Amino acid sequence: MSAIAFDIPEDILAMREGLRAFAEAEILPRHEANHNLFEDQRRLYDSDGRFSEELLNLIGEVRRTASKAGYYQMCVPEELGGGGLGHLAYFVGFEELFHTCGPQNWLMLYAVSHWAFGPSRLLEKLTERARDEMLAPMMAGEKSMCFGLSEPGAGSDASRITTRAAPDGDGWRITGRKIWTSNSPVADYCVVFAVTDPDTRGGISAFLVPTNAPGFEIQRIIRLFGHIGGDEAELTLDDVRVEPWQLVGELHKGFAAALYGVSLGRIYNSARAVGYGRWALEQALDYAGVREAFGKTISEFQGVTFPLAESATELHAAHLMALNAATLLDRGDAAVKELSMAKAYAVQVGYKAVDRAMQTHGAMGFTNELGLYHAWHALRIVNVADGTNEILNRTIVQRLMKGDREL
Ligand SMILES: Cc1cc2nc3c(=O)[nH]c(=O)nc-3n(C[C@H](O)[C@H](O)[C@H](O)COP(=O)(O)OP(=O)(O)OC[C@H]3O[C@@H](n4cnc5c(N)ncnc54)[C@H](O)[C@@H]3O)c2cc1C
Repeated sequence: MSAIAFDIPEDILAMREGLRAFAEAEILPRHEANHNLFEDQRRLYDSDGRFSEELLNLIGEVRRTASKAGYYQMCVPEELGGGGLGHLAYFVGFEELFHTCGPQNWLMLYAVSHWAFGPSRLLEKLTERARDEMLAPMMAGEKSMCFGLSEPGAGSDASRITTRAAPDGDGWRITGRKIWTSNSPVADYCVVFAVTDPDTRGGISAFLVPTNAPGFEIQRIIRLFGHIGGDEAELTLDDVRVEPWQLVGELHKGFAAALYGVSLGRIYNSARAVGYGRWALEQALDYAGVREAFGKTISEFQGVTFPLAESATELHAAHLMALNAATLLDRGDAAVKELSMAKAYAVQVGYKAVDRAMQTHGAMGFTNELGLYHAWHALRIVNVADGTNEILNRTIVQRLMKGDREL
């Protein structure tokens, strides 16, 4: 029985089934076979904090296998050689992976191309030469990229970036510093946002920069709490030469590309929050049904179960909101208000659902084996990444004040 009356197209439902089977055949067994690796952070990361070769090989295997199966590139436009599925498919596919795999089987993150690490609609704006150079290996899951917008002095207010692309003959020379750039320690390319029109606020452009270009350097891997290594880094660009074929989209109009990328991130993170939240709620319900205290299962105590009922209600609402926002995007609506609401709401209730599931498990909730900690960690972070909750509220209010008051 479905809780959702939403009309999800047949091809997306079929994709969801296929993706679940793919996860069962290709993701879960890899985690089982490499249990010791995933339990040992000293093997997951090199001494400088980068993903280890052992881990990168597994990620590469998942990407390439998913590409051969057609899932990795399923949401990339057909004209770039992808499956042409849209935003709804992106949400449904990732929600399925997060929900069925659970946070500890996290190789599933690489079964569908993440918009900032692999091919997506963002690459529609590449020049012909850039497409020729990088598209085939990206689509095959052999190469990856990263998205360099945030800087030490510019996070929520990205218009404050100071990385500068100064004209140099028919091209530019880029100098600046980026931070929090996910996947940058191992990426082959970086989409770098730089100021090209210093006289206009937001006069920035996007450039495709190979990470082995002279002057491009990873300065340090950022270790987020609880981890001895990481996938985010701080990097510098020192007089990096770029040519016209490396421009992504129109000159001085890079902000639109940045916002579109972040929109994809908001769908992805809504899926992550709903999927992990549902997974955690199910863990809590199962545990409450068997754990005994005071001569009864703890599911007999409303103090235990009412918070779970609240989470179920909130996750259901978040699920519907995200399906709605993704469908609006597929119809060509920018859905700025609806997507902001969906992401901000989903990450808060998803995080709360995981926290409540931990509480339901008592001390067991804090063990690594259950994986609740992994979901808690991931969802705490996405309350900031791809637009903080406060910035999303700001966007929602701006839209409301402009008269966009349909709810
Ligand atoms: C795990 C992770 C991965 C990331 N990956 C990438 C990546 O790949 N590429 C990339 O470019 N960036 C990335 N980011 C950066 C992310 O986009 C920024 O962290 C985010 O935009 C917030 O910026 P900030 O951290 O500088 O916070 P700040 O902008 O300094 O904000 C600090 C606090 O002030 C609040 N605040 C700021 N302005 C307002 C306002 N007007 N009203 C109310 N509150 C306000 C914020 O909500 C926040 O609580 C990543 C971040 C994380 C945590």
